[in-house]
Amino acid sequence: MRILLVEDDLMIGEAVSLALKDAAYAVDWVQDGATASRVLEFPEHQAVLLDLGLPGRDGFEVLRRLRLAGHALPVIIITARDDVADRIKGLDLGADDYLAKPFDLNELLARMRAVIRRQGGQAAPLLGNGRVSLDPATREARHGETAALLSAREFALLQALLLRPGTILARAELEERIYGWNEEVESNAVDFLIHGVRKKLGAEVIKNVRGAGWMVEKAP
Ligand code: CA
Repeated sequence: MRILLVEDDLMIGEAVSLALKDAAYAVDWVQDGATASRVLEFPEHQAVLLDLGLPGRDGFEVLRRLRLAGHALPVIIITARDDVADRIKGLDLGADDYLAKPFDLNELLARMRAVIRRQGGQAAPLLGNGRVSLDPATREARHGETAALLSAREFALLQALLLRPGTILARAELEERIYGWNEEVESNAVDFLIHGVRKKLGAEVIKNVRGAGWMVEKAP
């Protein structure tokens, strides 16, 4: 799951990046509105965390352009605690949720899980296809009688597949969802993660479609 963080405050940006990375997200961080808009012209992220007070183009304008271009990816705005008017404006411009500064990092993670879940058209907190289930709050996966705790990246891999059961994801598509811009990706990184998940949950959990990629099956 790949997140674009737009935040000009270095301390907040660092803390949020770290918390998101610890929680198995790939994070790309930009610090001004114009760069954010450029990145979002062709969104490759699954959600945006958007500060409103930014140098140059502010967060409202970034959001307005994003929605005008028809992009539906979830946006959580970050606002000052006492600024109700900003929150209302942001939500009316198409934000999905907001966080008031200073915010608790655990609350941020819970709100991220909620908007991503709703984007996938899912109300229940567990992701699954009827055979395999995954809890985004704990990273625990279950397959039949087997339960296992996944590593951050194993989780990101299985989550990407479970968000679109029955769809084959190619190596590049998986890499895009698991790693950020600044991360070196070894050529066999995806194979390594798939091996790890299969070892914990059973080989049949992830299906290999020769020459095309990998998938989890749709609910029976
Ligand atoms: Ca700011």
